[in-house]
Amino acid sequence: MYHYVRPTPADLPFSRYLHIDDFRKQLDFFAADEGFVTREDFLAVFDGGPIPDKGVVLTFDDAIDDHYRHVLPELRLRGLWGLFYVPTGMYAGGGMLDVHRVHYLLGRHGGMAMLAELEAMVEPRMLRSDHVAEFQHKTYRSQTNDEATTEFKRMLNYFVDIEWRDRLLDRLMERFADAEVVSRDWYMSSRDIRDMQHAGMIIGSHSISHPVFSRLPVADQEREIVGSFAYLEDVTGGLAVRTFCYPHGGFHTFTADTERLLDEHRCRFSFNVEPRDISRDDIHHRPQALPRYNCNMFPHGKARFGADESMDA
Ligand SMILES: [Zn+2]
Repeated sequence: MYHYVRPTPADLPFSRYLHIDDFRKQLDFFAADEGFVTREDFLAVFDGGPIPDKGVVLTFDDAIDDHYRHVLPELRLRGLWGLFYVPTGMYAGGGMLDVHRVHYLLGRHGGMAMLAELEAMVEPRMLRSDHVAEFQHKTYRSQTNDEATTEFKRMLNYFVDIEWRDRLLDRLMERFADAEVVSRDWYMSSRDIRDMQHAGMIIGSHSISHPVFSRLPVADQEREIVGSFAYLEDVTGGLAVRTFCYPHGGFHTFTADTERLLDEHRCRFSFNVEPRDISRDDIHHRPQALPRYNCNMFPHGKARFGADESMDA
């Protein structure tokens, strides 16, 4: 599982990303270690084909522009393929997804600066009632950008009421970003998505708005699944296969209803986040919750931090 794969980003000095050089080294490692499963062999598995003993399959989440700009050329050079999971909300005029507005603000200005701004904006009426006491007794003494980053996310995710969360992010983006430009540069375009499919990549759904599915009513879960597949079918001229990947990931982020809906809407397989190999059992009995590893669990996969060229971040 990959997200950001890029050269050192000059405009995001506090961001975390896999450096493109490390990505290349990791592909070299996989090629030498156990090789890759071909696209044909991988898809055949879900039609009763033989299951390869070993081999790596690459997935890329969130439709980051990196995937078209940096990953696709590298994969083509090597004759490789990947699964690219696209949230579709931003293509329907939804602007930048919340998860990425947070990444942008923190990457651009750092956790300490953003936490200070957020603290100054938050008023008692914006807090969730069950967290008011905890919030008011809390004193933020973050000494590092890492600690402040965690607090910033906690405040938005747990302390602030959901409707205020959006408005607070709007205000921060108004003050600290040119939101329209950021949104356009952050993601692949719909044309890029079509090109990726023509180049042999598999495009999958990552929902519309990147929600935690387990927190949504079933009807909203279905709307997210149906709407995102409809958009992707349209923009690609027809998907090769229907595949899905749970936003955020982990067993707590989806339910049995989610898996049932995916089955009903002809999704062949879905990826969760669970660090182990895919087993025969997964393929035959639970294809809507395939496990996968984070790239940082393998050599050369550690994120770099901002402009720091060292690998210890
Ligand atoms: Zn995602």
